[in-house]
Amino acid sequence: MSTDAPGPRRPDRSPPPRLRRLATLPVFFKLAGKPVVLVGGGDGAAWKAELLAATGADVHVIAPEPGEKLRSLLADIPSIRLSARRWSAADLANASLAVGDVEDEAEAEAFRAAARAAGVPVNLVDRPAFCDFQFGALVERSPLVIGISTDGASPVFGQEIRARIETLLPDGFRAWAQAAKSWRAEISGRNLAFRTRRRFWERFTRKAVAEPDRAPTAADLAELLAETDLPPQGATVMGSVVLVGAGPGDPELLTVKAVRALQSADVVLYDDLVSPLTLDAARREATKIAVGKRGYKPSCTQEDITALLVSLAREGKRVVRLKGGDPMIFGRAGEEIRGLRAAGVPVEIVPGVTAAAGAAASLGLSLTERDVARRVQFITAHARDGLLPSDLAWGALVDPRATTIVYMGVRTLAALSAKLLAEGMAPDTPAVLVERATWPEERRIRGVISTLPDLAASSSPSGPCLVLIGAALGGELLSPTVR
Ligand code: SAH
Repeated sequence: MSTDAPGPRRPDRSPPPRLRRLATLPVFFKLAGKPVVLVGGGDGAAWKAELLAATGADVHVIAPEPGEKLRSLLADIPSIRLSARRWSAADLANASLAVGDVEDEAEAEAFRAAARAAGVPVNLVDRPAFCDFQFGALVERSPLVIGISTDGASPVFGQEIRARIETLLPDGFRAWAQAAKSWRAEISGRNLAFRTRRRFWERFTRKAVAEPDRAPTAADLAELLAETDLPPQGATVMGSVVLVGAGPGDPELLTVKAVRALQSADVVLYDDLVSPLTLDAARREATKIAVGKRGYKPSCTQEDITALLVSLAREGKRVVRLKGGDPMIFGRAGEEIRGLRAAGVPVEIVPGVTAAAGAAASLGLSLTERDVARRVQFITAHARDGLLPSDLAWGALVDPRATTIVYMGVRTLAALSAKLLAEGMAPDTPAVLVERATWPEERRIRGVISTLPDLAASSSPSGPCLVLIGAALGGELLSPTVR
């Protein structure tokens, strides 16, 4: 057969991608009951002694002049013992690890040479060139332990990453990891097929992620085993839907709970209002579906979205419904919640920073400025027919002590302004339009209620906009950029 003859496509023969070069190998060293030698008496050595002792190692500290911190540790932790003298090569015999925190370069080098001669892996604090192994930054939910290394590139970078991982792993995971350890023998003893066992641990993880703040119980084990024993075919487990507030745009305004939900989602349904940076917080493997539903544009109907949520959950998916701002404010959450409950799908809601809160923060203006505003009201200026709703409470809106935040109010701004003036609002009442609040492209247009419609029309905003009206908006802005 000639090479260009049509035929079935051959499998791709290119070799599988190889692992990239690893700067260092993360391994987890069991030290319980093993001797470790630690040379040095300063605070750094004390911290290492505490860390090593936490693994159950027998820590032999050798320091002619132990510092105060070290001495207080000695009083508290029996597995740390001190020899108040200089170290010698004989100290290293049979040690599992050697750690040195010494100032003198020649001494550091001698210690390294002695450790190597004794065949003991060695670490010298702050001397990466002398180290056989390094201590990473640590996230501890023991028995779940995460070590982070930048191979000495930047410990601060490593610590910042550690802080991020900390926020993703609730403290309660410790209890789940402990349960996993104690249930392990029971699960293995059941001689389950590989796939069944795998399904057990997948469900276990799902439960841990869903209810991290509760310690697992024997009832959980029984329930998980009962689910695992179900016939694998046909009986799909019901998934779940979390309505998550995405905040106004800046991804840093996601709540920790929102990030956790996004990180464990199989599918994410998101609005037009959700900024691309916010969507990046979702698990990379999650399927992301845009269900934009902006006024005046062809889009999915609310019924389509609710039906999609129900069918994905019925397939057993963990679904995140990501909504701009807070889901419970002008987000049609009620319809989705009712639809899901009627279909028997478990629903949870994670609140978010609503656009008004985001805009107030970036303007640097208090919506309830003392003695200036006594009321904050969120209104929509967009009725079902796209016009200004006729049943707004005009008396409340023209209250000179009120701050009014108008959602979906650009198209009807001229009508709103005319109506407010007709109802008696002072024409010089401060008013600000904020487009894409908290996004890098945020724009503000500042005026008074009588001028804002024309100012807004001439700058033709294209992103989501809020209109904020009231005396409280007359204050000095945090950053003066008004375009
Ligand atoms: N649930 C959302 C509001 C959804 S209604 C919340 O709590 O913020 C959609 C309207 O919200 C938009 O028309 C606009 O008026 C407003 N909006 C949402 N995000 C915004 C943002 N980043 N900047 C300005 N307005 C925003």
